[in-house]
Amino acid sequence: MIIDIHMHTVHKAGITRANGETYATPEQLLEIMDRMGITQAVLLPEVSPEGSHCLSSTEEILEIARHFPGRFIPFCNMDPRIELNSPQTDMGRFLDYYLAQGCKGLGEITANLPFDDPRVENLFDACQSRDLPVIFHIGPQEGGCYGLVDDPGLPKLERALARFPRLKFLGHSQPFWAEIAPDYGEAGRNGYPSGPVKPGGRLPELFARYPNLYGDLSAGSGYNAVSRDPEFGYHFMETYQDRLLFGTDICAPSNDTPLARYLAAALAEGKLSLQAYEKITWRNAALLLRLE
Ligand SMILES: [Zn+2]
Repeated sequence: MIIDIHMHTVHKAGITRANGETYATPEQLLEIMDRMGITQAVLLPEVSPEGSHCLSSTEEILEIARHFPGRFIPFCNMDPRIELNSPQTDMGRFLDYYLAQGCKGLGEITANLPFDDPRVENLFDACQSRDLPVIFHIGPQEGGCYGLVDDPGLPKLERALARFPRLKFLGHSQPFWAEIAPDYGEAGRNGYPSGPVKPGGRLPELFARYPNLYGDLSAGSGYNAVSRDPEFGYHFMETYQDRLLFGTDICAPSNDTPLARYLAAALAEGKLSLQAYEKITWRNAALLLRLE
């Protein structure tokens, strides 16, 4: 049993990205999932223009999930600027509708707005009041990228963790996972820093201080954070085994991620306990998303 916390899809492949690829269709995702042994996958709508070449609505994702029962778990997603581009927009109206339709969380938030923008906090507030976990992407700056903007060291994320203590924040992206160590090296904060993880990174500090911070291990960034220094990675996964979740972030049919193989090897070699392995690969997701 493996649950993937982070996948994207669209009904029809549609227009290509700048790199020539398209999103994987649901049928293509199922092929990949069967090959990788992934039982169920969370589908994240792409609703912000900064984050996608081809948007997908919550309605589209709900329809896809219904079409393939038992395989896909729908999340809802709203751009923080939805409806009136105002911090007073009633986000609860949307969330209650999507909750009734079966959505289990919100995300991936990719709007390129400051992490502490009042419109973003309005969305956090509504999610917290409904106990709906959120997956977010962090962008290093405004413009030329996507994701909620935070500074090096993630001070705005820290303020949000303190301000919304009952909201479960699932962190993702290069500028999030680069903070596993105190320096980014030549790769920079929007890249994949390599080599030994020195003590003093902001993420270990934030994980220790805020029980509402979770880690989405999807994509190259999540895999890199727990594999660049394997001994550090095993220890980090054991320590935070209740708050780390397996994911792939497969967008295109050709995408591959070594994380599933890495975790299976760590288990087989006795580097990771069975308990931690099961929590990270599916038990945490089942608990967090209240799956039957
Ligand atoms: Zn994603």
